[in-house]
Amino acid sequence: MAQPRNVVITMHQKPDGDAMGSTLGLYHFLQQFGHNATVISPTNWASFLNWMPGVKTVLDYETQTGKADKAIEAADWIFCLDFNTLSRTKRMEDKLKAAKAERILIDHHQEPQTEVFAYGISDTSKSSTCEMVYDFIVNSGNADKIDTSIADCLYAGVMTDTGSFRFPSTSASVHSMVAGLKEKGLQHSIIHENLFDNFSENRFRFIGNVLLNRMEIFYEYNAALIAIPQADLIKYDIRTGDTEGLVNFPLSIKGIKLACIIIDRGEERKSSFRSKGNFDVNTFARKYFNGGGHFNAAGGFNKEPLEEVVELFKQAIRENVDQLSTYQF
Ligand code: 5GP
Ligand code: MN
Repeated sequence: MAQPRNVVITMHQKPDGDAMGSTLGLYHFLQQFGHNATVISPTNWASFLNWMPGVKTVLDYETQTGKADKAIEAADWIFCLDFNTLSRTKRMEDKLKAAKAERILIDHHQEPQTEVFAYGISDTSKSSTCEMVYDFIVNSGNADKIDTSIADCLYAGVMTDTGSFRFPSTSASVHSMVAGLKEKGLQHSIIHENLFDNFSENRFRFIGNVLLNRMEIFYEYNAALIAIPQADLIKYDIRTGDTEGLVNFPLSIKGIKLACIIIDRGEERKSSFRSKGNFDVNTFARKYFNGGGHFNAAGGFNKEPLEEVVELFKQAIRENVDQLSTYQF
């Protein structure tokens, strides 16, 4: 830690609370040691993350490519947070591969691409990458360095990745971490407001339309599908982040153990999967949707038109009927 280094900290495309929170948490920590850290996001991000301390310094690779490339070229270390295959960084992938710096992984997703990382921690038992950054800080004997900026960023990620502390990944260590952050002065209710009470009216009209017209329930498979055509995104002026969390809605219907949302983003059909109990959506997303993630939360993408991806989903649940129809929590 003694010698100042050029450090790049990066995350997956369309970063969520955990990706942005963990990278900025680590950024604030490394800055305290005099390192020259730059946070780069492969794409833009949801506006509900814009309250985070330090977010104004984050480079968007798509709009600030030159500046970001310079930082990557000059880097001694590149921290890769909340993703574990370089393809999750989209157009940054080639640049990251070519970098002379050592790539260091901190992540909690399954099946890391180990050959591209010099060091790292990959722990699928962890609730969030923010929890891993917290452990890293505490285990390195630097708990005293946790200020309110770090606490705010890390809380945002652990809270969003655990579904506000309800998912099975919410271990005792998560609650201990939050207790530790509270002792540092964390004001958690302000963070909930910043993240969840900052949406446009349009988004709620859009959700009304989604639930009324775009959701299909397949009771014989305990499954639900939401398929959103691109025209809806345009009609309701839907921005990055406005669709986050929608995939969880059908899981509130009694008996549903698999929920899927497919969004036609124009260049690709992006899908998200959530499950309850023993249905493994990481494998499901890998097998049918070029994706991956965790056991109960995963995502993927397809190049085929929306109607074909919808058919693919229906075919996929038919092929998994044995697992899906046995309701087991
Ligand atoms: P979300 O549905 O919130 O976008 O993602 C759920 C989980 O799946 C996250 O942990 C995310 O990193 C992972 N994930 C989402 N999309 C993809 C994808 O296209 N490929 C892979 N490998 N993982 C994904
Ligand atoms: Mn995460």
